[in-house]
Amino acid sequence: MRIVIIGNSTAAVGAIEGIRAADSAANIAVISAEMVHTYSRPLISYLLEGKTDIDRMKYRPADFYERNNVQTFFGCTVTAVDAVARAVVLDNGEHIGYDKLLLAAGSRPFVPPIEGLCGTEHYTFQSLADAKSLEAALTPKSRVLIIGAGLIGLKCAEGIHSRVGNIAVAEFAPRILPSILDGGGAALVQSHLVGKGLTFHLGNAVASVDGHTAALADGAQVPYDVLVVASGVKPNIELLTAIGAKAGRALITDSCGRTSLPDIFAAGDCAESIDLTDGRRRVLAILPNAYLQGRAAGKAMAGLEEPFTEAMPVNSIGLFGLHIGTAGAMRCEPETDNNPQYSDVNNYRRFFFSDNRLTGFILIGDVNRAGIYTALVRAKVPIDTINFAAIAEKPQLMAFSPAARKQMLNGEKNDS
Ligand SMILES: Cc1cc2nc3c(=O)[nH]c(=O)nc-3n(C[C@H](O)[C@H](O)[C@H](O)COP(=O)(O)OP(=O)(O)OC[C@H]3O[C@@H](n4cnc5c(N)ncnc54)[C@H](O)[C@@H]3O)c2cc1C
Repeated sequence: MRIVIIGNSTAAVGAIEGIRAADSAANIAVISAEMVHTYSRPLISYLLEGKTDIDRMKYRPADFYERNNVQTFFGCTVTAVDAVARAVVLDNGEHIGYDKLLLAAGSRPFVPPIEGLCGTEHYTFQSLADAKSLEAALTPKSRVLIIGAGLIGLKCAEGIHSRVGNIAVAEFAPRILPSILDGGGAALVQSHLVGKGLTFHLGNAVASVDGHTAALADGAQVPYDVLVVASGVKPNIELLTAIGAKAGRALITDSCGRTSLPDIFAAGDCAESIDLTDGRRRVLAILPNAYLQGRAAGKAMAGLEEPFTEAMPVNSIGLFGLHIGTAGAMRCEPETDNNPQYSDVNNYRRFFFSDNRLTGFILIGDVNRAGIYTALVRAKVPIDTINFAAIAEKPQLMAFSPAARKQMLNGEKNDS
């Protein structure tokens, strides 16, 4: 059997390991537009900061492909999938046949329709090649404007801040990290970043750029030397939607990664997941999700059904030395609702409850016990079985009732 994987990142690695857990003989081919060995994408900011190097960024050891008997086609882009002939077409014209195909093509930066942007130099921050191009453009005097105060924009700021003159960040939403933080949490993180020298223009879209100055919606003019666009990503789904695959924002799959097309699977940032905290389909563009989706798809392609049903948003981030841990469903109503919130100058914690369950949390500063809270959200442990005081004192399993302990350890259903 020949399995072809498009992409060579987290989901692809999960798939290779999933296939080999079930089948040592299948013929595996990996095709990647990037020229390099698989690497950990979140580390590109640490590379610019000088905290890691290309060798240490490898997501798997140097002999990974050899050990797993994987044929690699690096620096090749798949331009089409021919589902009738069961082959993919490469940009060099070559056709590679498959019995099973996995799309693990991730996403690409979304470049918003800002007047003047198309014709002026700008950078994105999604890949090793992006990081190297940006690095080459920076000088100690550069005034950098980053469009987007999400995770990627702020990690970019962290990566470059010690090697440039100043950094301004413009964000359309009224707060930073809008998809993972509420107002109180975002304010604390923002004040930390302002303390590190960053300037923010929030609730303010960039209306136009001309290569030297950005005009914001409120009329402000922000001069810059280097422009970085980090205003979201777009899943790479077109290879399959062009031949009829069902998709919402990303490809729709079952919990083993099967798309609506026969023998074609999808995993990672190009596929939607069912978020266990609310049962809704959405793109959960995080590394653990990509790996586990890929692994389930790999096993299924090799004939082993082990569905991945535990997808949920989990973020563990460090920004300029400040730790942020979030998981599960976050609601942004004013902090007057029933969800407890604690804050001081360095720390912020907020917990979200619903139907006798912890459904999500935000921890900033002191992120101790984030793992335990994540387990409580994931296992949907009834709150009245939890001794929160004991968790605060001692983060050990003794904090839970015997029934809750059994559920967390065995994944068993607790009807109490
Ligand atoms: C700066 C940054 C920081 C991040 N920080 C975190 C973090 O702290 N925690 C976290 O959980 N997640 C983080 N993420 C997100 C995480 O990196 C992604 O969720 C993860 O990489 C998704 O893996 P993937 O395999 O689905 O796709 P990707 O990593 O996007 O890889 C897809 C690959 O497919 C290739 N490809 C695409 N189309 C084709 C084609 N037609 N032909 C051939 N090859 C193709 C691409 O070149 C790419 O190599 C971060 C991302 C970035 C950019």
